[in-house]
This record gives sequence, C-alpha cells and structure tokens, in this order.
Amino acid sequence: MTRKTTAIIDLSALRHNLSVVRNHAPTSRILAVIKANGYGHGIEPIGLALKEADAFAVATMSEALRLREAGINKPVVLLQGVNNESDLAQVEKYHLDLVVHHQQQIDLLQSYAPSKLSFWLKVNTGMNRLGISTSMVDESIEQLSQLNPKEIILMTHFANADNREDSFTQKQIDRFEKLEQTKQLETSMANSAGILHWPSAHHDWVRAGIMLYGATPFNSGTAEELGLRPVMTLVSELIAVNRCEAGEPIGYGGLWRCPETMLVGVVAIGYGDGYPRHISENTPVLINGIRCPIIGRVSMDMLCVDLRSVPQAQITDEVLLWGKGLPIEEIALKAATLTYELLCQVTGRVKFSYLD
Ligand SMILES: *Cc1c(COP(=O)(O)O)cnc(C)c1O
Repeated sequence: MTRKTTAIIDLSALRHNLSVVRNHAPTSRILAVIKANGYGHGIEPIGLALKEADAFAVATMSEALRLREAGINKPVVLLQGVNNESDLAQVEKYHLDLVVHHQQQIDLLQSYAPSKLSFWLKVNTGMNRLGISTSMVDESIEQLSQLNPKEIILMTHFANADNREDSFTQKQIDRFEKLEQTKQLETSMANSAGILHWPSAHHDWVRAGIMLYGATPFNSGTAEELGLRPVMTLVSELIAVNRCEAGEPIGYGGLWRCPETMLVGVVAIGYGDGYPRHISENTPVLINGIRCPIIGRVSMDMLCVDLRSVPQAQITDEVLLWGKGLPIEEIALKAATLTYELLCQVTGRVKFSYLD
C-alpha cells in the first residue's frame, strides 16, 4: 500500500513570504537562510524557488555543495565557517562565503591564504554562542584585510528576539552600532524576528529564516497575523474508522478511554514521520475542514482521533496535521516546542510534493 502521508510544499507561498521580507526591509539585501534542509522543506527546491533572494545561508559544507550541484550560483554563506584546510579548499573551489567567528579560524585562513573570499565577521553582542568579542573587532578586521578579501561584512545575532517585550535585543543593537567599524563596512543583524519587529536592525543585509516558511519567529501569535502564508501543509489519511464502546481504552498504555460509544479514526502518521509524540490533550487535526482532537498516545506510524465531530468520515479521507487551515504555531504550543523544530524533524519517510 502506498502511504499518502505527504508534506505539500507551496512554493508560491514561499515567494509571497520572501516579498513580505522585502516589504519590511526594502533597502536591505536578503540572505535567505535555508540551513537544515531548508528548515525541513527540501534545500534544492527551496533554493531554486527563491530566485529573488540575494544570497543563501547554510550551516554545513554538504548543504552548500547541494546548492551548487543544483545549479545555484548565488553567494552561499557557511554560517559556522570552517575549521580545517580541506573545507577551505572546498570553499575556494565552490566560491562559498565564510562566517568567521573565532581567532582560530583567522589563524587557519592566514596559514592557508585563500584570496578573494567574502568574510562575514561575526561579533558577539551578548548571545555568547559564536562571535569574537567587541574588543577584538579592529584586530580581526586588520587580519582579514591582509588576506586580500573580496569584502568583509560585520554581523551579529540576536539571542532573545522571539520575545517582542525583551529589551535585550535593543541592547544588542546598541552594542553593535556603537562599533566604529559598522560605519565603514556592510553590516547584518536581523533574523526574522528582527526583520518584523526591529526595523533599526535591518542594516545592509537581513537574514530571513523561519518567516520564509510561513511560521512566526515570535513566542506568541500566528504567522497569519504577520501576513505570512504557510509553506508546508502536512497531510495524511484515515486508514481505519472504528466504533468503540464506552469505557474502551485507545492505543498504547490505554491512557484515553471513550466516554461513550463513538467513532475513532486511525491516521497514517506518527512520530516515525516526525509528528511529535509528546503532545498535550486536545491537539487538533483537520478532517474535511473540521477539527478533531487526537486521543491516546501518538505511536510510530499512526495516531488516533476522536471522530465525534465528523460522523461522516470515511477511510481514505484526508487528514491535515498542520499548514493551511491549522497553524503550525498551535501544534508547536501543544507539543511544548517550536515551529522550527516541528518543520525540521519531518522525516524522510514522508513524501514531499512541490506545488508551484
Ligand atoms: C538560523 C539563523 C538565522 C535565521 O533565523 P530565523 O529566526 O529562522 O529567521 C539568521 N542568522 C543566523 C546566524 C542563523 O543561524
């Protein structure tokens, strides 16, 4: 039996969301962040569909090479840079741009001496993950300048921008803008949250990730309120409709019991497909446009739903897990996680179907 479980990827929604980025930051160039397999959407089709992006950002060398192999010739930035000579050889060969976030990377560059690379020098303004300290900026620029670079762009990354009320983001903006060097070089600060809520952080390059995929970067509210359209709609189908007696337990552990004699649907999706196992009660799915709660435990290949609100439901009816009509933000909240994680963890067993 072929399984219907499919991630439908709406490329026109993706391009719409890119235009939302443009409208928010009309004078900035857009670095489209398509790491982690395009946030789980498929890196090649996403890269190819984003023709209007100015450059791409990925986390790993293999992601960068997939873009080159797909025929993408735009600049591709390696967000973690490189730490060895063989990767540097690939950087030269495939014309990749490098984030430089540590003195050790500068040392490597000095001994290897590549020429005409674009460096994104990452400065730590308070996240304390990657980045040179603000006191080292002059010296690092001096060292990179001696490598005959194509250009040096100064960047930093926000730690708390998902929370629109948190004043730490403005503190990071102030720290970054206080650097004299930001007046001479091109600069980049804003992720999706920065693009949408901190216009003063737009600078020369914005780095759009999650908003491109039609999910909100914020810890409350939905993407729809921001004018974004969901790119991924995850669907499956009913593979059984069962009449269960009052008091009968449903699924592993028998955690949920039928309060009355009722119809229970079995849906062909589970945590083996990336649907979260840990969801709270009353997490909905959509069947024929109507919300039905998931009942009992999510298992590897299946989950069960309460069909009392759709008594006409039949085997092979489509079941929508998130996407158009059911915001992924709502599912993320029910699973105590982020939309980012849900999107990234859809597994290779799910079929991907691209709509243009
Ligand atoms: C992932 C990433 C982004 C994109 O962040 P979103 O919140 O998805 O927009 C931007 N900049 C850097 C350095 C990143 O690692």
